[in-house]
Amino acid sequence: MPDGLTDDRSETIFEDFKGEYTREQALVEANRCLFCSDAPCIQACPTEIDIPQFIRKIATDNLVGSARTIFEANILGMSCARVCPVEVLCVGACVYNHMGVPPIQIGKLQRYSTDKAFEKGTRYFEAGRDSQRSVALIGGGPASLACAHELRRLGHRCTIYEKRSTLGGLNTSGVAPYKMKADRSAEEVEWVLRIGGIEVETGVEVGRDITLHELEQRYQAVFFGAGLGSDTRLEIPGADLPGIHGAVDWIERMKLGRVATSSIRDCVVIGGGNTALDALREARGLRVARVTMVYRGSEAKMSGYRHEWSAAQVEGARAEWQAIPIAFEGAGRVERVRCQRLDDAKRPIAGSEFTLAADLVLVAIGQSKLGQALAELSGIAIDAGRVVTDETGATGRKGWFAGGDCANGGKEVVNAAAEGKRAARAIDAHLRRGSHA
Ligand SMILES: Cc1cc2nc3c(=O)[nH]c(=O)nc-3n(C[C@H](O)[C@H](O)[C@H](O)COP(=O)(O)OP(=O)(O)OC[C@H]3O[C@@H](n4cnc5c(N)ncnc54)[C@H](O)[C@@H]3O)c2cc1C
Ligand code: SF4
Repeated sequence: MPDGLTDDRSETIFEDFKGEYTREQALVEANRCLFCSDAPCIQACPTEIDIPQFIRKIATDNLVGSARTIFEANILGMSCARVCPVEVLCVGACVYNHMGVPPIQIGKLQRYSTDKAFEKGTRYFEAGRDSQRSVALIGGGPASLACAHELRRLGHRCTIYEKRSTLGGLNTSGVAPYKMKADRSAEEVEWVLRIGGIEVETGVEVGRDITLHELEQRYQAVFFGAGLGSDTRLEIPGADLPGIHGAVDWIERMKLGRVATSSIRDCVVIGGGNTALDALREARGLRVARVTMVYRGSEAKMSGYRHEWSAAQVEGARAEWQAIPIAFEGAGRVERVRCQRLDDAKRPIAGSEFTLAADLVLVAIGQSKLGQALAELSGIAIDAGRVVTDETGATGRKGWFAGGDCANGGKEVVNAAAEGKRAARAIDAHLRRGSHA
């Protein structure tokens, strides 16, 4: 079956790789916590969740209070519990790492607490008193959702403009299904919107269906949370052959069950970042027999997380280090990738060419930056496609704020949540000053 058609494996075979705690397991783990007074785990969390406090509440069976502690800091605490790279954030900072003892499984405890809150449907937050001020949010991903929720708590009216038919951004369409499936992200969107008063305009692309100037006239402030753009293309011979896809685009279609891999034997992933590693693991998860990453750097210098690469290796992925693709070849569709090795200075080595069989190629060499979309507005600085903001999220143009991937260049969901919330506080200060007038 050629790719692009549907088979039904993507929804069924991805196991939830971290699994859930039972009450007993959660209690045992929570009671291991030392409740450190200068907790390094809090400092490692971009949303500064009071981790020892929420863990202490689990230990005393106060689950409603535990989840409140999490959501007060991060309204996207449910998805962050699943998708955060805790190994390099809170868990990586736990003091137990220095004692030769396994660190506290903070992500799993956070998941236990927030899942119980979702199951119970506990309502934690009310909208603040109506300020009569309105804010437009461009994009419906984690950054805008966190920003809109905080703005509602502060009493401001919000409208999210999202070009797709669904909200959640890459949390819905990009994050690997073994971390979180799209329907769980949709549940979280409902959870965020439950505060009431967040208007949502889906299927509306700002810049095409409504202009930036129109937004500026209609609203007293605007938050730009448009994330990153499409996959960067690899401009080498054969790049247009069927079977070659941008990795983020393919992952989105795979999550929606719109790719078929039953006839795919050899998948080559180009790149060495986290999207490349996700693509590797997802292709292996879909039972593609041979999955190979081609990366121009060395293993020691790859930008993807080491723990993800270790997991990919355990699952059977392999890599060609210090190599680049120089051509895609095939009759009617891709069949081979011609590659060349690089020396330590990344110069091609003469006579080092080799060929990899490939009936699926996923190109994961980055995504375009969308900051340029704001270039028509004077006062907003763009640096290499990223929107430049101060530490509060304010741009150089009065009333315009930004956060998440479009401003930080592409980090994690938890960074987008932190930056969205921080920008909401700055927007609130701006609106209360009346400086929009
Ligand atoms: C393949 C992949 C896997 C990832 N895995 C993880 C992970 O495991 N853990 C993790 O923490 N992070 C992960 N990330 C990163 C994480 O998803 C992002 O950092 C996060 O989603 C950024 O949130 P955002 O709101 O800034 O942008 P996005 O999530 O990209 O949301 C932006 C939204 O804006 C919309 N939009 C864009 N332009 C317009 C416009 N002109 N008008 C209206 N709407 C517009 C888009 O459609 C999109 O819905 C992953 C990213 C990718 C690509
Ligand atoms: S650093 Fe570890 S032990 Fe200390 S409070 Fe955080 S999770 Fe608990």
